[in-house]
Amino acid sequence: MNEQYDVIVIGGGPGGYPAAIRAAQNGLKVACVDEWRNRDGGHAFGGTCLNAGCIPSKALLESTELLHRARHEFAAHGIGVSGVAVDLAAMQKRRATIVKTMTGGILALFKASGVVPVEGHGRLLAGNQVEVTGFDGSKRTLLAKDVILASGSTPLRLPNVPHDGRRIVDSWDALEFDSVPKRLGIIGAGVIGLELGSVWRRLGSEVTMLEALDRFLPMADGAVSKEAQRHFKKLGLDIQLGAKVARATVAGDRVEVVYTTAAGERTLEVDVLVVAVGRRPFTEGLLAPDAGVTQDERGFIRVDEHCRTAVPRVWAVGDVVRGPMLAHKGKEEGIMVADLIAGRYGEVNYRVIPSVIYTAPEIAWVGQTEEQAKAGGRSIKVGQFPFAASGRARAMESPAGFAKIVAAADDDEILGVHIIGPMAGELIAEAVLAMEYSASAEDLQRTIHAHPTLSEALHEAALAVDKRAIDSINR
Ligand code: FAD
Ligand code: AMP
Repeated sequence: MNEQYDVIVIGGGPGGYPAAIRAAQNGLKVACVDEWRNRDGGHAFGGTCLNAGCIPSKALLESTELLHRARHEFAAHGIGVSGVAVDLAAMQKRRATIVKTMTGGILALFKASGVVPVEGHGRLLAGNQVEVTGFDGSKRTLLAKDVILASGSTPLRLPNVPHDGRRIVDSWDALEFDSVPKRLGIIGAGVIGLELGSVWRRLGSEVTMLEALDRFLPMADGAVSKEAQRHFKKLGLDIQLGAKVARATVAGDRVEVVYTTAAGERTLEVDVLVVAVGRRPFTEGLLAPDAGVTQDERGFIRVDEHCRTAVPRVWAVGDVVRGPMLAHKGKEEGIMVADLIAGRYGEVNYRVIPSVIYTAPEIAWVGQTEEQAKAGGRSIKVGQFPFAASGRARAMESPAGFAKIVAAADDDEILGVHIIGPMAGELIAEAVLAMEYSASAEDLQRTIHAHPTLSEALHEAALAVDKRAIDSINR
């Protein structure tokens, strides 16, 4: 007899596993099917984010930032250190242990909430049936009233840049290097490229980044991207803009990269080349031909604003559907769908999704940039506060960067918040909450912020919107 569930989730990443847990919290009988295989062949829930993305990258960013601070900032505190040494094996072991703990945690959460974990490949058949192929090749069919597709994404490859996992690698490989490449090339100066570049630069690699676009971090506010570029240069990242990679070849123990610039063709020689040019939706073997789910020209599963596919009671969430490829976006979609299935209210506010780049200084934003707000024809006011004027940032020896608020000139509503500086990724949460409640700059002005904290930068930026900042000169 076929196993019958209320909800089957295909994919156990940050889109799928929260959907499964919320559906179980809603009293439904739930299975979560996942086929992730780690490099050692073992299975773990958590998808790209926990196994090969958000979590391992943050572990290495933290370790290498500490190293950087020990080498470059401790002296300013009057702390002399000598013989600072890196044990890369220990650093990588810590990264792997964090990943193992976090992915193991999902199984514990499943157990506590009653979600049935199923290891193997899931394939949607017609009639809301899911065929599961186990790692041993065995097949069984599960039935569900509702199916949630959360199969995620996979790194984009470039034609003529053949991945071999050793000399030409992707972001996952680059998180698991067991030695520091002397010369590291990175194609793509996006979020992932910059985070990986920072890690290996701090560990001693000479890092060259080739970016096809002429503008640095085009999705960020112009003032933020300008400030960020200055700091990455100071760190020693050689970021070449307007450099479009045409091909790369491995010759012995080095890689030759050919790219075009406005001035003509150029060649770069590196020891290892990371391809970090973005990700594509992953749907290999996911949909039987008669399953009825449709995809757009780029392979994303087509959904409406509530993540409904073309097939009744089949839903899709996370990186496999339109929108930013971010773990928290997938999580909110998964929770929304699980609530809608249970007949509850569910909604995702796509206008208020924060973005964070976990470099030093950290970069975070939510809502519209100054350029976007202006292009939208809205009359705006802008307030900015430098961390150099923050007592807490000074005490932390982290005075770089600023917080910036873009507000509507007419009704004072906050349209966007942009932070580059210490703990920006944490600070942005207040801005997200403010925007979720359609707060005005004045609402933030009248909210008491503890002193001395980094969060005062947001308070002061809100005051600066009306040229009423206290702790910095109003311009
Ligand atoms: P995934 O996490 O890709 O999970 C999909 C799961 O489904 C996988 O386990 C896959 O094996 C499984 N699967 C696929 N098809 C099937 C099938 N047919 N049957 C069974 N199982 C299947 N985002 C952030 O928000 N913050 C960050 O700091 C961040 N850092 C990142 C760093 C790196 C290096 C990378 C690569 C990504 C990072 N991301 C970050 C992006 C984030 O990882 C993704 O947005 C997120 O993982 C998407 O979640 P998902 O559940 O949609 O897909
Ligand atoms: P992201 O989508 O944030 O991961 O960033 C990927 C970056 O890679 C984008 O900024 C792209 O412009 C860049 N990119 C894509 N293809 C190439 C290429 N062939 N050469 C150089 N950069 C590229």
